[in-house]
Amino acid sequence: MEGQAGNTPFVIEAEEADRQRRASGLTIQSFLASLVEPTRALARPPISAFRVGAVGLGPSGCIYRGVNLEFPGLPLHHSVHAEQFLVANAAQRGEKSLTYLAVSAAPCGHCRQFLQELRGSGEVQVLIVDSHAETQALSQFLPHRFGPHDLLEDEFPLMLEPRENGLCFKSHNPLAYFLPSGHLASKSSAYDIASCLTNDSHNNDSKDQNKDSKDGNKDSKEGLPSSLPRRDLVSDCGQFCDGSLDANNIMKHELSADVTSQNGGSVQEDNSFVGDLDAQELIEERKLDSLRVSALRAANSSYAPYSHCPSGLSIFTTEGKIFSGSYLESAAFNPSLSPLQAAIVSFISHGGDHYEDIVHAVLVERDGASVQHAETIRLALDKISPGCSLHIYNDLLP
Ligand SMILES: [Zn+2]
Repeated sequence: MEGQAGNTPFVIEAEEADRQRRASGLTIQSFLASLVEPTRALARPPISAFRVGAVGLGPSGCIYRGVNLEFPGLPLHHSVHAEQFLVANAAQRGEKSLTYLAVSAAPCGHCRQFLQELRGSGEVQVLIVDSHAETQALSQFLPHRFGPHDLLEDEFPLMLEPRENGLCFKSHNPLAYFLPSGHLASKSSAYDIASCLTNDSHNNDSKDQNKDSKDGNKDSKEGLPSSLPRRDLVSDCGQFCDGSLDANNIMKHELSADVTSQNGGSVQEDNSFVGDLDAQELIEERKLDSLRVSALRAANSSYAPYSHCPSGLSIFTTEGKIFSGSYLESAAFNPSLSPLQAAIVSFISHGGDHYEDIVHAVLVERDGASVQHAETIRLALDKISPGCSLHIYNDLLP
């Protein structure tokens, strides 16, 4: 099910793409065009009912799909355009650029601008499937362009090119702000944060948490429980970001020994836990650790050359999967893709279905940054998945 919705994968690996194209007898452009209509069917446009599908080929030979996403109850700028979806999808698979793009409708101005962030964007060959038009270079769609060449050094790594922003957590237990159900609150230790994850108290006593938040900031490094084991989060980057690993199962195996030896509890096959409360808290802390590491990793891959405010978000689903997304910035600012939008792209492109399945989210962004996503993402999550908790880690170096 990874990377697909039903039988339509959001990524076709290079070897398989080449096999399918040869079997079809089509040119590359025509083969990509043939994939656009089934891609459109995957779009989620409950507001406009206008489905858009985009299919792109990378230099690796892999094919990527993108669809438009719309979110009722939210401002339209939360929408994800098909070309943006495709680029985020390609970025999450390590693709370095795009060579061909086939789309069901002419790229809108927003997308023509967003695509400027790709290396060699002007040469990307674009085919609009429903117009019977010839393939044209993207530079034909956006002459007199404004983009990274106006603002960045030539050698600066662009959107799909590898980067490492070098962020790390200042402390082993950075301050977390906990924002459930419309109220800002904070907790002063990992122990408390883990407790929040284990039950629905965040939905019931958010006013009290809000009250605590006033001084939680300064006391964040005090009062940590000594009974819980600590781990080096930065070194444990794993492959949690694309849902390919089952976090619940991993933690179950990792923690079985710890939990049983420390608490006399045991981990059950259905991921439930028998033991005292500490055992459950330990499990939940590890879950949060995994989310924090995944979000930090996404923030370190974030493309934010204009604001210098990288960020990343990871989400945890009812199936125990973790997905993450990196903030992707546009020189024109507004077409930028938020870390939540990028994480949702990962969720959907790996077979995610219902947004309500997203139950926890962790955002990593710098404290005091001139571009911050926390409040907007909290509002968005309240609409998209009302039961989802949001934890923010902003105690970062540098
Ligand atoms: Zn668009």
